[in-house]
Amino acid sequence: MPTQKILVLAGDCLGPEVMVQARRVLAWLNDTGAASFEIEEGLVGGASYDAHRTPLTNETVDLAMAADAVLFGSIGGPQWEEVDYDLRPEKGLLRLRQGMGLFANLRPAIVFDALAGASSLKTELVKGLDIMIVRELIGGVYFGEPRGIEDMGDEGQRGYNTQAYSTREIVRIAHVAFDLARKRGKRVCSVDKANVMESGVVWREETTLLRDAHYQDVDLNHMFIDNCSMQLVRAPKQFDVILTDNLFGDILSDLAAMLTGSLGMLPSASLGATGDDGRQPALYEPVHGSAPDIAGQNKGNPLAQILSLSMMLRYSFDMAQQADLIENAVEAVLAKNIRTGDIAGDGMTPVSTIEMGDAVLAEMEALAS
Ligand code: NAD
Repeated sequence: MPTQKILVLAGDCLGPEVMVQARRVLAWLNDTGAASFEIEEGLVGGASYDAHRTPLTNETVDLAMAADAVLFGSIGGPQWEEVDYDLRPEKGLLRLRQGMGLFANLRPAIVFDALAGASSLKTELVKGLDIMIVRELIGGVYFGEPRGIEDMGDEGQRGYNTQAYSTREIVRIAHVAFDLARKRGKRVCSVDKANVMESGVVWREETTLLRDAHYQDVDLNHMFIDNCSMQLVRAPKQFDVILTDNLFGDILSDLAAMLTGSLGMLPSASLGATGDDGRQPALYEPVHGSAPDIAGQNKGNPLAQILSLSMMLRYSFDMAQQADLIENAVEAVLAKNIRTGDIAGDGMTPVSTIEMGDAVLAEMEALAS
């Protein structure tokens, strides 16, 4: 079994607390021989600022590129609010994404049966939900030039941004969506605004050409962003993989996240381009932030961090069996009504972060024996 090198960047506030629980899962996999991991640690965000006066050092970027994957916690907190804007903890993550060339953001929206009641939608609409949103992460209107704010004298001011996508940018993200669909339900819904935006026309043409040339076994349909937003709350289970650009993906992934009921349950992945050596830069992190309001109190839900690890095993290391083991253990824990405060229903006594880690490990042990 090859040894995989993982760089752990736990970050700030709640980050290191929930990372401890994911590290216990990693250690269990190593100790039982289910996997072979070599772990390195680094600083990012406020922790890096405190040590090096920058939220991300070049050495950390080098470590990230040398690793087979990065397991990231979360960054930020009130103690760094007065720091210069460019040196804020959050800049550390943005720079890391840029430094690693992470252009694809994968955000699964999965509803565990035991938590279906926690969604703001009716249980029957979300029970069994399993969607993957693939968002282009480093192009589009958030980065397009020209951009700026123009002084218009007596008429006030004018803010403007540019939405632009090239064939290369569309094709590389569409490949990710089609490849993922092949491992799932073989359906991709590509979302754009081709009825009013030229960038959408090109997006639609290029995704169709790619599908026809290389993915005839995958169904492709196109949807306008406004319709897709409605469909996601009307009948979310109609989707398998949703492919979309940076702006629409930002909004749709948060919308889909809320279908699942809790921030503390949601993992994500960001992937870069596969190099000539076959290696693909990858970073896995919970969707939630550093939760300073509950940090240090042994209250946070570690499941998003643990599920980020299982995504890493599935997508970076092709370890579907080990990923299934972790996810089945989480499902079993929830089915026993073991819950942290964020997902505890009425009348349930919340468990601590550590107790949740204990419960997941106990289920993994039971399932593996
Ligand atoms: P947040 O996600 O940290 O917290 C929002 C709410 O959800 C809080 O009430 C928090 O207690 C709760 N929550 C979050 N994760 C939880 C968990 N695992 N278990 C239980 N409850 C959980 O968002 P915020 O409060 O807007 O931001 C706090 C800090 O995090 C800010 O500095 C922000 O910039 C940063 N942030 C970082 C990331 C990241 O590292 N990727 C993402 C978002 C926000």
